[in-house]
Amino acid sequence: MKKKISALGNLLETPQHILIVTHPNPDGDAFGSVLSLSLFLQKYGHQTTVVSPSNFTKNFYWLPGIETLESFESNKEKLIEKVKTAETIFCLDFNTLTRIEEIGTHIAASKAVKVMIDHHQMPENFADITFSDTKYAATCEYLYDIFCELGKNEWIDKDIALNLYTGLATDTGFFNFNNTTDNVHKVAGALITAGVSPDFVQDKVFNIFREERLRYFGYCLQNRLKVVHHGKLAYMMVTKEDAAKFHLQAGDNEGLVNFPFKIEGVEVAVLFTEETGKVKISFRSKGKIDVNDFARKYFEGGGHINAAGGKSKLSISDTEMSFLNKSKELFENH
Ligand code: 5GP
Ligand code: MN
Repeated sequence: MKKKISALGNLLETPQHILIVTHPNPDGDAFGSVLSLSLFLQKYGHQTTVVSPSNFTKNFYWLPGIETLESFESNKEKLIEKVKTAETIFCLDFNTLTRIEEIGTHIAASKAVKVMIDHHQMPENFADITFSDTKYAATCEYLYDIFCELGKNEWIDKDIALNLYTGLATDTGFFNFNNTTDNVHKVAGALITAGVSPDFVQDKVFNIFREERLRYFGYCLQNRLKVVHHGKLAYMMVTKEDAAKFHLQAGDNEGLVNFPFKIEGVEVAVLFTEETGKVKISFRSKGKIDVNDFARKYFEGGGHINAAGGKSKLSISDTEMSFLNKSKELFENH
């Protein structure tokens, strides 16, 4: 860590143009990490461009700096140019360039110094400085430690703290998941000291459904939820028609995958959502059941042991068949 921190410290001494990118369909940790880093880098005098590879949910409109976040999907020409001219590129909350699709090919080709900060399994070796550690529950937790190691604790103002806290809270299920360590609580405490109100974040993250979205969740639980393997596996297949019926917007599926765990005995929950040309998959599991491994092996994905994502190019019904055929493997040796 010491060597990398001093390399990063040296890199940041000269004001420059810095591009910060996260994964497609950014979640709380992705938003929180890119926005807090952008605000932090501006204090050095750097110019920052903050990019999501895809269009993104409006649900985080309340995060400080969110108005600066640009979508590569909506503004390719301009942002390809920004990738070309950036002197440094930060990659946050993902660890392979293929994960970020088209913008990844431009980043691979750019001459910029690349810095990765991430907490997922199996990092690729594409960056000049790689901060990759699965002990961190959130990229935001890692960033907090990096800001402190750089000796800049006092730069963590209320806006930066709110972004960091949001990532930390969302990636730990508001301090409920088994990645909630003593360091998570220490960092959360420090961020509260810096001015964050936990009740504000809780309210903004959880109580922001449109009526239609809540009814959609109810519809999925009523009509789409299947429970198999003696009650240990629960999954939902959501079609494009379902999404159209409830006028779903980007990010509206966030959180749905966790609901089946309300049923006692469920150990794995999976959500399949049909998109154009592919089915997006979210996996969640309990304890030692490794959905990262499963997603990587069968569904071109990855993530963490207990929370991973992936995709299938088959039709939604063929995806279901294929998944069910493989699903027994999840419960072997447990
Ligand atoms: P979610 O199910 O919420 O989309 O993602 C759960 C976790 O898996 C997140 O940490 C996310 O970054 C990761 N993840 C989601 N989709 C993919 C994917 O296609 N590839 C990889 N490597 N990780 C993914
Ligand atoms: Mn994360």
